[in-house]
Amino acid sequence: MINESADMFEGCLNDEVGRDTACPPNIGGGASITETSLRFETRALHAGYDPYGHNGSMSVPIYQSAAFAMHDAQRGDSLSSGEIEGFSYSRCGNPTVDAFERRIADLEGGVSAVALASGMAAVSFALLCAAEGGGRLIAPTDLYGASIDAMESFFPQFGIYTDFVDDINDIAQVEVKIRPDTRAVFAESVANPSTRITDIKPLADMLHRHGVALIVDNTVSTPYLFRPIEYGADVVVHSTTKGICGHGNALGGVVVDSGNFNWSNGRFPQFTDKELSVSDERKGIWRNFSEAYPQAPFAGRVRIKYLHNLGAVMSPANAYLQLIGLETLPQRCRQASETALEIARHLETVPHVEHVYYSGLDSSQDKPLADKYLPNGVGPVLSFRLEGDESHVNRVVDAVKVFSYVPNIGCTHSLIVNPARITHREVPSAYRSAAGVDDQLLRLSIGLEAPKDLIADLDQAIADAY
Ligand SMILES: *Cc1c(COP(=O)(O)O)cnc(C)c1O
Repeated sequence: MINESADMFEGCLNDEVGRDTACPPNIGGGASITETSLRFETRALHAGYDPYGHNGSMSVPIYQSAAFAMHDAQRGDSLSSGEIEGFSYSRCGNPTVDAFERRIADLEGGVSAVALASGMAAVSFALLCAAEGGGRLIAPTDLYGASIDAMESFFPQFGIYTDFVDDINDIAQVEVKIRPDTRAVFAESVANPSTRITDIKPLADMLHRHGVALIVDNTVSTPYLFRPIEYGADVVVHSTTKGICGHGNALGGVVVDSGNFNWSNGRFPQFTDKELSVSDERKGIWRNFSEAYPQAPFAGRVRIKYLHNLGAVMSPANAYLQLIGLETLPQRCRQASETALEIARHLETVPHVEHVYYSGLDSSQDKPLADKYLPNGVGPVLSFRLEGDESHVNRVVDAVKVFSYVPNIGCTHSLIVNPARITHREVPSAYRSAAGVDDQLLRLSIGLEAPKDLIADLDQAIADAY
């Protein structure tokens, strides 16, 4: 039995990238299927997991175990020092979660990923990991509500301040905000709920001239519709609760390290100071995070400091659900984006609808960016502004029958919400109005129902409200 389980361990500890970094489990990324010739749809089903290391199980097994037998004293020591890869305790690594991390890293085009309990754990860990030790951040105001709240009123409690800009695509406006202690810019690739698109390429080019990192929340578009790393993003975060999981049945988040950014450029002491957690005191070997994880120092630090010390671990059962969701990500994204565009076009013709926000529309100011970055669709989220006041919004919410009134996006079911009261409630009103999130706004997340049924449902609810 012992030999068999040792073999099983070998099978799930792939890979060329991780080994020479002497990492603990699953750091360093790379996947068992990384052939760039394989299409996204194929990799969504196969990347990061080899059934033959897992008794041939075609479905990634749920390793429902808090800890893993270390076999013998010597292996225990090698595991704990990071000399060999392997699993010992599920807070820092679990085989089911590991498969999910490898698949996401592969699909996003990164070198390593760390799965977390929720999207906000991913956003917070990534921002703190970049700015820790008194650094500053720059961000636009049209962000997910909790992200704004974290940067605006919570991180300052820990000495981390954010300089907000009105328009993240105004590169000159962003550049003048860069100070010696600025560490990173944070933006959403497709903003929730305005669907404004961040022009990643020129922003990344400018930031890299200053040695500042670009962290992108890619939740709304998912890696199927858009891969920010291909245009220069250094770190990608997701709420995998949304389109990646896709069925609204598990929370999750992930931080993906592109492996491209030089964290030793002098702005980030946390990557160049020697630390015991990546050193071997008995052997007199002292290292910093850039030395310990040369391919993916950012993911290494998120795992070894943030996940290890703050918890927020993704459970193996949730990782399993996210892996199932990923299998159909391309098909779901395509259909939902197509339907969202059809509904956005329809809403432009509906009486009492003042404005439709969807960057895939010809009337949208961001249509050129949609064409440049998102040729397969802008995603399932759109929003629209109703004539009148909040009472009309409330009546539509109460009158829909096919749409569900739910604070979520990227689900197989179509969802409706009033952001000003629910998902963006914690955003200061000045920021909300700059982002177009006022009391007359409704946000939709389009699912897989028949488009005609969704359109008829909206038509009857809006007619009913006036
Ligand atoms: C939902 C969401 C988050 C937060 O994710 P949770 O999984 O709910 O913690 C972060 N960013 C965006 C863009 C989101 O839509």
